[in-house]
Amino acid sequence: MAESARQPKEPQNPEELYRYLLDRVTNMETRNLELREQLRQVESDKRYIETQKIRYEREVRKLKSEIDQLRSPPLVIGTITDVLDTNRVIIRSSAGPRFLVKSSLCIDPENLKPGIRVTLNQQSLAVVDILPESYDAQVYGMEVVETPEESYSDVGGLEQQIIEIREAVELPLKRPELFEKIGIEPPKGVLLHGPPGTGKTLLARAVAHETNAYFLRVVGSELVQKYIGEGARLVRELFDLAKKKSPTIIFIDEIDAVGATRSDTTTSGDREVQRTLMQLLAGMDGFERRGDVKIIGATNRIDILDRALLRPGRFDRIIEIPLPGVQGRFSILQVHTRGMTLEDDVDLMEVATLTEGKNGADLRAICMEAGMFAIRREHDAVTREDFLKAIEKIGLDFEQHRPLGNIGAMFA
Ligand code: ATP
Repeated sequence: MAESARQPKEPQNPEELYRYLLDRVTNMETRNLELREQLRQVESDKRYIETQKIRYEREVRKLKSEIDQLRSPPLVIGTITDVLDTNRVIIRSSAGPRFLVKSSLCIDPENLKPGIRVTLNQQSLAVVDILPESYDAQVYGMEVVETPEESYSDVGGLEQQIIEIREAVELPLKRPELFEKIGIEPPKGVLLHGPPGTGKTLLARAVAHETNAYFLRVVGSELVQKYIGEGARLVRELFDLAKKKSPTIIFIDEIDAVGATRSDTTTSGDREVQRTLMQLLAGMDGFERRGDVKIIGATNRIDILDRALLRPGRFDRIIEIPLPGVQGRFSILQVHTRGMTLEDDVDLMEVATLTEGKNGADLRAICMEAGMFAIRREHDAVTREDFLKAIEKIGLDFEQHRPLGNIGAMFA
């Protein structure tokens, strides 16, 4: 009733009725248009919301899988030591013990070979995946030089030692047929021993340069690792890498860190060092004599080296690199002053005589200091006076154990 009361009364007059109806039709059409517009708007909103929904669903799925991944337990790393049949293998886990485990069906049995690194399920230790062949980052962290730049002409005063190392390392690499013809086994490696700074590393780098060999330098102490078996694995990977890159010269500096005489002590640290040494010896025995991997060891403490390392067949030649005599010092000074501009009054023989007891590294430092004195005076050439001052400075620095020279003195 109330509704009809609000409705305008329909005119009775036919003309007015016609106008009235026309008005209502026009109003309804306008309303219809408005409603259509609203519908279009709502539909477009709906489409937008649907695409947003799909986006958020995808995001949620991604986050869920990320959470799953974060929640999944870590996989143990192990190495296959033996393959029994298509899905049973013996592995050694990184923690040490060996296990007989199954391998996942997703893994092609063809790819299961001894020596391969795999990931293992934490509970069943089943092989889950095969890791790509990669050498330990630490092996790559070692100094690896394609061909060092130093040549024999950069080594002063070690003529006899150069001859010995050439015969023992260079000749087998360059002319293996000579050894075959004579019927003797070429040496596998040499051991350089002598006081620090006398040019052992330099000599090894020069050999690698002359033979166009890869130069792998590792410091013995780097091979001593915290975890059981890790040091031995590093040694194994070092030899593998050397074989792959051959011809290679492996230079093991401070070999006494792993090669010291084995004792009966039973601390786990000592046992780990011994294990690393055993792996080193096995590695040295393992590769073929005529192979093109040679080892040059260096030590300042030959007296504490294990006899097993010193026996022929491992290091076939033991070459002493002593402190240089006066002639040696003269040759070393010649090497290091080769590129320097010297005044006529500089007599290298005199410098050599005044530097009794100094090693190659000291002599190099003296040449550099003399050059620094000349630069300080803004002089174009180095004089005898500069050398005398440099000898005094280096002598003083070393006597007072101030390797940092004047900087050290400032803090003293
Ligand atoms: P360490 O036992 O401490 O490792 P090292 O015997 O290996 O010492 P190097 O590292 O070869 O000594 O020498 C250090 C630097 O001293 C070389 O880079 C080189 O510049 C210089 N040197 C040493 N000996 C000689 C040499 N006989 N001829 C020319 N330079 C030398």
